[in-house]
Amino acid sequence: MARGILSFKHEDCKGCQLCVEFCPTKILVLDKNKMNEKGYNLIKVIEPERCIACGFCANMCPDSVITVERVRE
Ligand code: SF4
Ligand code: SF4
Repeated sequence: MARGILSFKHEDCKGCQLCVEFCPTKILVLDKNKMNEKGYNLIKVIEPERCIACGFCANMCPDSVITVERVRE
């Protein structure tokens, strides 16, 4: 099984939550306690071990904030 490790360019995020909406395993959420310099809440991964490396989040993001590294388990 492949697994994904996510990295974020948080400063480019505008909190649109498209990544949250399209993640099939529902492991992305808006972090209400953290925001970037522009004042947008950041995205956090709540259960990183459940990421299946599908890449939907990265593909949907209009600002190329997310990179998914695919690793073998
Ligand atoms: S790679 Fe797929 S499973 Fe992993 S966080 Fe992105 S959308 Fe969700
Ligand atoms: S889709 Fe991109 S810009 Fe929108 S909330 Fe997710 S990471 Fe941020």
